[in-house]
Amino acid sequence: MNEPYKYIFGPVLSGRLGRSLGLDLLGGRICSMNCVYCESGPLATLTLKRAPYVPAAALLDELARWEAARAAKGEARPDVITLGGLGEPTLNSDLPRIIAGVRRIAPGVPVAVLTNASLMTDETVRGELLASDIVLPSLDSLLGSEFAAVNRPHPGLNALDIAEGIRSFRARFAGRVWLEVLLVAGVNDSAENLDALELYCRALAPHRVDVVTLSRPGTEDEAKAVDAATLTRWRERLAATATRSEPAAQATEALAYTAEKRQGLEDGAVSGPRDTAQLRAALLASLTRRPQTAGQLAQALLVPEQSVHMALEGLLAQGEIAARQQDGATYFQARAPRP
Ligand code: SF4
Repeated sequence: MNEPYKYIFGPVLSGRLGRSLGLDLLGGRICSMNCVYCESGPLATLTLKRAPYVPAAALLDELARWEAARAAKGEARPDVITLGGLGEPTLNSDLPRIIAGVRRIAPGVPVAVLTNASLMTDETVRGELLASDIVLPSLDSLLGSEFAAVNRPHPGLNALDIAEGIRSFRARFAGRVWLEVLLVAGVNDSAENLDALELYCRALAPHRVDVVTLSRPGTEDEAKAVDAATLTRWRERLAATATRSEPAAQATEALAYTAEKRQGLEDGAVSGPRDTAQLRAALLASLTRRPQTAGQLAQALLVPEQSVHMALEGLLAQGEIAARQQDGATYFQARAPRP
């Protein structure tokens, strides 16, 4: 990692995907929603307009450079390459070229897409997503008032249309659909929403359902996590609608693979960023994308936690990052989103 990358971040450690190399398809805070729990900072543009916000050529040039540097250093390949960014990646109209290019540059590495599913109402977008391996749509509420309150969507969006778009995609997709529901206390955790989502998920039969709540600082301070009992109740009801346990097993395998690589690091077989400047640049790039603890950063970058702590202290002293307490943990985040 000799120079900062503009559109590539990580790898970061994802509970579901393992070591995930992120690609930013937006180049800024551009989204079709403005969720109260968003970790990406204040929204710049609320839109449904598709455009090559990050042109495929620019992104793929960078990925090829990253891949060449990784191979030259003998570092482990990421478990997955995840299309995302500080907004909704399917807004990028170069999506099909980007997926094809990722497959060419990193053959054999699964391609995942993190999406709020808003554009899955569009048949063209659904067709483009068929070329990926894992699609992770989020759907937080099927009730109009809750959808408006939690996702603060573009006025052209409707929760039921989005749900139908996901269902239609699921019927044709050969890969895996992992649905995510994020609960905000007092906003979308109602019994009516749980009943509606359970019915919907039974018909959808996603490969996996993840019910989560806020674990890191969100955009709005008043957005609060639900309690453990609520989370358990929702998980029990919705997880039962998933088709089979295979994807969860694969996620576990991915984590085990990461653990092997960590062991390799201790044995000197693989390595993350090697010097202080490289490590600081890698940390800053990662913290620009989302707040994380020192432990999460160490696991994602395959670097001893002690080294991460020292580099974080340097970045704090330089005013590049800020620290914030949440749920008994210290989260670090970059002071300003990248331009
Ligand atoms: S959480 Fe996702 S969908 Fe919601 S505003 Fe942030 S980037 Fe957009």
